[in-house]
Amino acid sequence: MKYCSSCGQPVELKIPQGDNRHRFVCPSCETIHYQNPRIVAGTVPVWEGRILLCRRAIEPRYGYWTLPAGFMENSETTQEAAARETLEEALAEVTIEDLYTMIHVPHIDQVHIFYRATLTNGQFGAGEESLESRLFGLHEIPWEEISFPTVRRTLELFIEDTRTGQYPVRISDIRPRDRKTAVR
Ligand SMILES: [Zn+2]
Repeated sequence: MKYCSSCGQPVELKIPQGDNRHRFVCPSCETIHYQNPRIVAGTVPVWEGRILLCRRAIEPRYGYWTLPAGFMENSETTQEAAARETLEEALAEVTIEDLYTMIHVPHIDQVHIFYRATLTNGQFGAGEESLESRLFGLHEIPWEEISFPTVRRTLELFIEDTRTGQYPVRISDIRPRDRKTAVR
């Protein structure tokens, strides 16, 4: 951040009185610009035992496959965000079920949340941000072309859990060069 979003003057990076972290502070209007993690919400959309994936039409990871997910908007719940992203990216209406994964990605200041979901009528397509979407059997997942580590982990866990049919909430972290740690 270079300029104050309230008054347009240059900001300074400093620890405000009574705080213990560096913040962007405006010396002109005294606004403290707090920056907090962003939430990405998405679904694992299932239809007749297969998982719906979208092939990205945007960077980063153009052409790679992803679960439908995106940044949460103000004034919506995480379930609403997950359903909205699924509709936008895969043109698929879903019934949101239980929370499934919550994956912290601290080095990029994000938290990724995926819900299990079922397609309402089996219909899907390609939204603006997708080249195509397609249902994949559990043995057909294009592992070499999966877009993001949080999507990969969610798919790995989901397929593991289909063996027992139990899908407990899985909370984990992803750190740089460290994709496998801290699953609990
Ligand atoms: Zn200002």
